[in-house]
Amino acid sequence: MHRNPIRVLDSASVDRIAAGEVIERPASVVKELVENALDAGAADIRVSIADGGLAAITVEDDGQGISFRELPLACERHATSKIVSAADITQVSSFGFRGEALASIASVSRCTIISRCEDEDVGGLIRVVGSVTERREPAPRNRGTTISVEDLFYNTPARRKYLKTPQAEKKAVLNAINAIALAYPEVRWRLSSDDTVLLDLLPADSLPARVRDILGVQTLEHLARFSAEEGGIAVGGLASRPTLTRSNRSHQFIYVNRRPVQSSALAQAVRLAYKDVIPPGRHPVVLLFLDIPHGDVDVNVHPAKSEVRLMLERHIFGMVMNALRDGLDLRADPAFAPDQGGVPFEQASDNQGPLQSLAEARDDYLSRHFSTPGADERTGQPSLFEGAASSASVSADSAPPPPAAGESSPRPAPFWQLHRTYICTQTKGGLLIIDQHNSHERILYNEARKAVQDGTVSVPVQQLLFPVNLDLTALQIQVYQDHADKLNLLGFMIQPFGGRSILVQGIPSSLKNWQEGQLLLDILDDLAETGRADNAAHDDLLASYACHGAVRAGALMTVPEMQNLLDLLFATDTPQSCPHGRPTLIQFSREELEKRFGRR
Ligand code: ADP
Ligand code: MG
Repeated sequence: MHRNPIRVLDSASVDRIAAGEVIERPASVVKELVENALDAGAADIRVSIADGGLAAITVEDDGQGISFRELPLACERHATSKIVSAADITQVSSFGFRGEALASIASVSRCTIISRCEDEDVGGLIRVVGSVTERREPAPRNRGTTISVEDLFYNTPARRKYLKTPQAEKKAVLNAINAIALAYPEVRWRLSSDDTVLLDLLPADSLPARVRDILGVQTLEHLARFSAEEGGIAVGGLASRPTLTRSNRSHQFIYVNRRPVQSSALAQAVRLAYKDVIPPGRHPVVLLFLDIPHGDVDVNVHPAKSEVRLMLERHIFGMVMNALRDGLDLRADPAFAPDQGGVPFEQASDNQGPLQSLAEARDDYLSRHFSTPGADERTGQPSLFEGAASSASVSADSAPPPPAAGESSPRPAPFWQLHRTYICTQTKGGLLIIDQHNSHERILYNEARKAVQDGTVSVPVQQLLFPVNLDLTALQIQVYQDHADKLNLLGFMIQPFGGRSILVQGIPSSLKNWQEGQLLLDILDDLAETGRADNAAHDDLLASYACHGAVRAGALMTVPEMQNLLDLLFATDTPQSCPHGRPTLIQFSREELEKRFGRR
């Protein structure tokens, strides 16, 4: 591999480089350093961090190295070996070109570089503390480069203050390595944190092999290939069949010329491709690789180069959408019929007028369903016809007409389910309508909150007949370890099961959506995404558990289930709203009904 000398860019080139801060947090240091290693042709990259990268970050590679003479230059602002002039910016094929990363890092940390080029006998060391070179001397090393960054932001306390917890920073580092390691399966990657190995990825000969090592074999089994090529642009990768979805987009990886990028347009193309085949709010697992002539991508729009501008964006958008639909066969798949959860929610918010007070609704419900179970329920008289039945002088003791064979009988149903989403029931004072999902969410949330507050497992636990073995990603296992105690309190019985696997033997019995473990993965993904500090993380866990564990809109419920749900809802101290503040119930008073029907 030919190596150009490092040179300081002229001011015209510097002026054309997107301005802005490159180093925001430990993960941005790691990203810049591993990109430099890849640009140097490394086949083996080893990253270690201490205290989430706040105390130390070390990146070692076996790439081309930096010559002893060039070490000071490498740490200078706008010094790069990757482009020579402004004109080259439009044709960049390397990760770097700005010549700013090492200078930025060295200005906010105590940075040591040890490196040796192939054609040197001994290597060299340079130590730069807050942009001041403290030492520069010969040092032995094999070919390659080791860069150690200690005490990040030691001299800029304001920036240090904005960092998240070491745990959250560690997860961000893990995410950054995962994203880039998926694009470079031929490279060996190792990541350790405070002497714990988080990743050890052997060189793999294909993308699926690397996906298996990062996302797990259970995920890989649900992925299929897709590809398309047109006019020098190639689109392709792996994506999940509609049988596998996730609760957020953290399992979607987009690359342009092997550079991990954020692209709302491409994310939108993915979303549209899957629109009719997966439930709303769910997201496929996608690894999308775009190969585009370098002249058709502008990588100089964002200081961290994580966003790019695509010249033929509309065209590429269509290519991606079609490639996914063809490759995954997403077009005519009725897997997700509207009736199974696509039920549109009706807006009830403009109906505030007829609502009874919460206390009235609760009293009404309790008086009807607990204190005086109506004769109609015991005799099998449909309560809908309660009034009509008595005026037609049908005795309460007379048997109801036998149900027609094969038909669902007109059983006394004090609860009705509407659109598989709402539960209606009569109360003394009127009509009560419950949102089944919001209500169940409230119940689960309060139960879980109590368990965590009391520090004991206070909910019934259901032993699984067949324990479920879940294959976690490196990130999920981190999140799991951080929250294992609390998950245990919520009623999950989980054992480590070797490597990145866990074995789930029991779950809280009030859950409705276990789905062979999908629930737990959704919770872990949610927590990985928010990554907030202790107290907030605790709340995020409860909210995520309640949201994913609650019965969904679209799920059919039996009468005893509906009754149980309402009983539990009214036993909570906050039955009127779900944990996100959405209403759980609406109450129409008899007066309002009478008014609407012109009886008053
Ligand atoms: P850029 O990557 O934009 O050129 P950097 O500040 O990241 O700017 O790096 C400055 C220069 O230092 C690079 O152009 C490269 O020549 C050299 N360099 C940095 N890291 C390495 C490495 N790991 N191996 C070899 N050379 C490196
Ligand atoms: Mg660089």
